[in-house]
Amino acid sequence: MLGEMTASISHEVNQPLGSIVTSAEAGLRWLNHETPNHAEVRALLERIVASGRRAADIISSLKSLARNTKPERDAVDVAGLIDEAVLILRSDLNRRQIALRLEISRDLPQVRIDRTQILQVIVNLVTNAAQAMADGQAWNRTLAIRARESQQRVVLEVEDSGPGVDPKVRERLFESFYTTKTTGTGMGLAICRSIVEAHGSKIEFQSSPYLGARFSFTLGTEPNGQDTI
Ligand code: ADP
Repeated sequence: MLGEMTASISHEVNQPLGSIVTSAEAGLRWLNHETPNHAEVRALLERIVASGRRAADIISSLKSLARNTKPERDAVDVAGLIDEAVLILRSDLNRRQIALRLEISRDLPQVRIDRTQILQVIVNLVTNAAQAMADGQAWNRTLAIRARESQQRVVLEVEDSGPGVDPKVRERLFESFYTTKTTGTGMGLAICRSIVEAHGSKIEFQSSPYLGARFSFTLGTEPNGQDTI
């Protein structure tokens, strides 16, 4: 349990920590210019604050997941949540030369979720998709994030054009500590599964060799679009 908790926290806070360091380094470079650019430095400091807050939120949301405490449930706009995930991951996707396609239905109802947790699920699925395409040296690197309404739930999908999930990996995909990456922790999908199950859903996946993988799950909608908390 302690091992899983430690590995989960380090898996999830790695991204905001990386972003803090990169932003701080860029800020120092701007300050060292002959004429320091204060606007750039301010934007980078704001990014550092946001990433630091996100790391703290992630830790408390993982703690509540592990303790099985009464879950946080807020009415959340899915399109806004996906925008936030894209903002977090944009530089990663650019660095790996990945084209992003957003297919978000208009007028989606709000969903009733723990915002921080579901944001992490999206970030983990997109990060895996990006790594699969880059590591598999996919020539065509397209990542699609989709959201649509179906049977009074919102379906979220992350699809990549990477090598697909290796058939040998399928059975163990969601196991804690199972990874095929040299620097992986094997916690990403285990965390996604716990979070999605705590939201009364299940992660489904489809995969075809050389065509890519698609992970999806559904979220319950907010009755009458009202926040009843
Ligand atoms: P990690 O990312 O640390 O390896 P995960 O639990 O997120 O841990 O993933 C477990 C394994 O599942 C990965 O090592 C990889 O082999 C496989 N996998 C996950 N997502 C994809 C994907 N989109 N395409 C191909 N394989 C994937």
